[in-house]
Amino acid sequence: MNARWEVVIGLETHAQLSTAAKIFSGASTAFGAAPNTQAAAVDIALPGVLPVLNRGAVERAIRFGLAVGGTIAPSSVFARKNYFYPDLPKGYQISQYEIPVVQGGTVTITTPAGEKTVRLTRAHLEEDAGKSLHEDFHGMTGIDLNRAGTPLLEIVSEPDLRSAEEAVAYARTLHALVRWIGICDGNMQEGSFRCDANVSVRPAGSTTLGTRAEIKNLNSFRFLERAIQFEVRRQVELIEDGGKVVQETRLYDPDRDETRSMRSKEDAQDYRYFPDPDLPPLVIDAAWIARVKASMPELPAAKKARFESQYALASADAAHVSASPELAAYYESAVAALPAGIANGPKLVANWMQGELAASLHRADLDIAQSPVGAAALGGLIARIADQTISGKLAKDVFDAMWAGEGDADAIIAARGLRQISDTGAIDALIDGVLAANPAIVAEFHAGKEKAFNALVGKVMAASKGKANPAQVNAALRSKL
Ligand code: ADP
Ligand code: MG
Repeated sequence: MNARWEVVIGLETHAQLSTAAKIFSGASTAFGAAPNTQAAAVDIALPGVLPVLNRGAVERAIRFGLAVGGTIAPSSVFARKNYFYPDLPKGYQISQYEIPVVQGGTVTITTPAGEKTVRLTRAHLEEDAGKSLHEDFHGMTGIDLNRAGTPLLEIVSEPDLRSAEEAVAYARTLHALVRWIGICDGNMQEGSFRCDANVSVRPAGSTTLGTRAEIKNLNSFRFLERAIQFEVRRQVELIEDGGKVVQETRLYDPDRDETRSMRSKEDAQDYRYFPDPDLPPLVIDAAWIARVKASMPELPAAKKARFESQYALASADAAHVSASPELAAYYESAVAALPAGIANGPKLVANWMQGELAASLHRADLDIAQSPVGAAALGGLIARIADQTISGKLAKDVFDAMWAGEGDADAIIAARGLRQISDTGAIDALIDGVLAANPAIVAEFHAGKEKAFNALVGKVMAASKGKANPAQVNAALRSKL
């Protein structure tokens, strides 16, 4: 990307709401059932049936609106979006158009360049379509309507994003948020969270928007990033060669790492939107909003800010240990398990969670909630480091033993005789032995070589099998020399 062009991106994100039943019928939304076994009369558009709105879907939309600081419309309207496609049996999708359930709101993202607030245009409720099956039908297409009528929240951002990296940061933040507030399982392989990226470029300094292309259905962060990068290159080259970007819908092909034109972009008028006469306006009163508000968890930004002040954590540490409700719960339990009066205990817990624990979980492909070393157990280990029962180095062995199921830190320290040697007499004896055995290194030290000192410390530590208190060894060695 060259500096003469500015990239402009707005994302439309479809989050599948985690209700057990569909948005307008009682059929199950469970993933992976045999085709057409979860399609009620409403979902397959039998004549004479009427949709009935699922309260749980509305409640989830309210949760989202509150989480992003948007306005919950007191009365919003379902509209028919008309188009023909084999996987859309009614010939229209029920969506919201002029008055969506959530208006405005913001999402704050963190990029290497710092924090940035992305404005949301709206979030509206709608139903998903079915799925065409092109394999196994010998030249024909099968239709599976299990997904038809699955509740979606479409979240639309303003064109505030300026790079593929920012778009990914935004999508990741939104993904974490919808899971955090319990409205979407976030499973991207199963299509529960997918993005359409609207991409345009304009000359740097320009304030009008360029013509955009919309890349549909990106279901991984990697594809989102690569699709945008390709699309930006394509548009810049096109314009610099004297061509013009046409407004269209494109598809990303991960195998060839390129976007391809799918169809020219529909205008709103092509969809002939009108209010759905089968559904009354969706009325949400203040009492309902208040009830939902009372059930909201502490939100990611608030939790991170609290961790920074309550536990004196740096921003990056706080971000890591508050990245999910599970990590945050683990962190706070571990800190709570520390004895009172350990000054840097909260920082040590954050270090261990990002270090040994994260690495071990990653190796074993486990989530924090499945960790064989529980929060209280980690707190117990860190307490023994803080009170100098064991050195930080031996603590790693103790951690591995805890991971392997050998018991808690105290039991392992006792069983393996790892207790740190802090007894002055014992340390003096170790030092005397090392000094007597290494006259050459001692001579080097007296000749002014500071490195020789470290070599002697190393030998004392080795003689103690790593158990001598390093600070005491340093001090005693200095005074003896
Ligand atoms: P539609 O619903 O027809 O796709 P909208 O006007 O609602 O169109 O915009 C959809 C998305 O496209 C929004 O996220 C918006 O921010 C983004 N967008 C609109 N114009 C541009 C543009 N010129 N460049 C990049 N993104 C844009
Ligand atoms: Mg669109």
